Amino acid sequence: MADQELIEKVRAMVGREYGRVYAWDKVNAPMIRHWCEVMGVSNPLYTDPAFARDAGFADVVAPPAMLQVWCMAGLDMENYPPGSTDENNFEVLKVIEPYGYPAVVAVNSDLYFDRHILAGERLYFTSKVDSVSDEKTTPLGTGFFVTVLMAYFSETAEGKPDEPVGKQLFRVFKFKPAQRPKAEEKPAGKAEKPAAKRPLPGISDDTRFFWEGCEAGKLLIQRCTGCQTLRHPPAPVCAKCHAFDWDTVEASGKAELYSFVVMHYPEVPPFDYPNPIGLIELDEGVRLIAGLVGIERDELKIGQRLQVEFERFDDQQTLPQFRPVAE
Ligand code: ZN
Repeated sequence: MADQELIEKVRAMVGREYGRVYAWDKVNAPMIRHWCEVMGVSNPLYTDPAFARDAGFADVVAPPAMLQVWCMAGLDMENYPPGSTDENNFEVLKVIEPYGYPAVVAVNSDLYFDRHILAGERLYFTSKVDSVSDEKTTPLGTGFFVTVLMAYFSETAEGKPDEPVGKQLFRVFKFKPAQRPKAEEKPAGKAEKPAAKRPLPGISDDTRFFWEGCEAGKLLIQRCTGCQTLRHPPAPVCAKCHAFDWDTVEASGKAELYSFVVMHYPEVPPFDYPNPIGLIELDEGVRLIAGLVGIERDELKIGQRLQVEFERFDDQQTLPQFRPVAE
């Protein structure tokens, strides 16, 4: 049961309003274009001023889903433009926390749009604590759903009321995590937990030849029969000539180290750590990723000559690995 004092404090905060948070920049074409590129959005209304004018707008339109973008703090947290409030519109979470609800998770966000936003507009939002639920228990734990509503406005000329352009509802769950079941005591005389096995690759009709080749101790590379181009990882179609037909060639296994990483943490069974992984350029010209063996991490060198070898793991999977050889 939630503390009565907490419930009263939180109830009193519902409806509380917070001041303006301004946008650093006016709505502008470069930010719209970058957002569209990243999101894969190609509507010319957002990027082509002539198209936007033909559609009846004075300038390019911002994608509605960018609403939240304009008034964000930027890379430095809580760094808002001059004139913005320094209040915390989620301060209700700070009130709940000391009562034993340390965790928080975002639950959902809804956007509402009043009208299109155009390049050149300057936005700000104000916030309101919309609701705090009764104490609820979910699989995550027990706590409160807190909903804050941000209302976005476009500044207008002096003397006119600013125009509402949209709203964003943001809901989080502030909770005490559910107790995890305690690890069971291991009964005396019982066998140890079986050792972790290497994860098996996902094998498809496109990749089966490669893994079957490994089982046979052969490093097989896919080759387009249309233009003879080698490719790896395997794919159903040639990127160069778009032919679907292919066969394979057996690589010599001679290669050089094109690049590498050394995995340290987290240590995941059954791998040994530090765990060096190479991006390997085969003498045939294609690259593949594989484990490196027989070398200390300090000795790894870009351009190092390597030779493939095969090792069978867990009696179910054979993997190519690469070992340094003399120049
Ligand atoms: Zn081809």
